[in-house]
Amino acid sequence: MIQSFDSLLQMMEAFPDEQTCIDHLTAIRWKNGAYCSHCGGTTVYHFSDKRTHKCGDCRQRFSIKVGTIFEDTKLPLRKWFIAIWLIASHKKGIASTQLAKDLKITQKSAWFVLHRLRYASRTQSFQAPLEGDVEVDETYVGGKAKNKHGGKSGKGSGVAGKAAVVGAVERGGSVVAKVVEHVNTETLEEFVDNTVSATVASISTDEHSAYRRLSMKYAHGVVHDTNKVFVDGNTHTQTIDGHWSQLKRQIIGI
Ligand SMILES: [Zn+2]
Repeated sequence: MIQSFDSLLQMMEAFPDEQTCIDHLTAIRWKNGAYCSHCGGTTVYHFSDKRTHKCGDCRQRFSIKVGTIFEDTKLPLRKWFIAIWLIASHKKGIASTQLAKDLKITQKSAWFVLHRLRYASRTQSFQAPLEGDVEVDETYVGGKAKNKHGGKSGKGSGVAGKAAVVGAVERGGSVVAKVVEHVNTETLEEFVDNTVSATVASISTDEHSAYRRLSMKYAHGVVHDTNKVFVDGNTHTQTIDGHWSQLKRQIIGI
């Protein structure tokens, strides 16, 4: 699946047009099977244009670029692939002015491409950063979690035999979830930094102490479940709560 090339020419021959690039990205993203970029549903219908898909669950149409760093731009994937090549071969970094010239794109686009590719190399994924209003929460999967936050230490060790999962959802957008070893400040903060955009509008979490430092970097709203105040204006975690119950129903179903 992962191909390597000795030269830019060789790479461009391997990807002679937009469709070969789309097919390659599709093969990487769906190596474990097709899924919906909006809801994660696995009933996916494919259109004959070879680039449009429709979800059997949420009924939305999408392309393979939805939810990735390649979304939100009219730039063809082929130019993105060339940009990846150029950035990888300029070890000391490439200026956006140079990238703009090489790709025949505006400097504004080049700046955007550089930012997105730096983000992708940091997170080792093509997943786009979440924007807008984001909710972050953790849960335990694989049984009954008696003490969600595993005691005062904030570590997940109190929940034997269960996997700790941290997730973030952009309201009206995609969900990102990750299995983590601990639910401490370091792990959760790293997850948030690698998942949401630096320009995110707001982040809602519960009052778990590991989230406390998010207020230093983001517009951070805290839901106080202990006071039974679950919705406070824009601050709530109802979207991610919904995703967790859906996830758990699916696991029980399997
Ligand atoms: Zn869907």
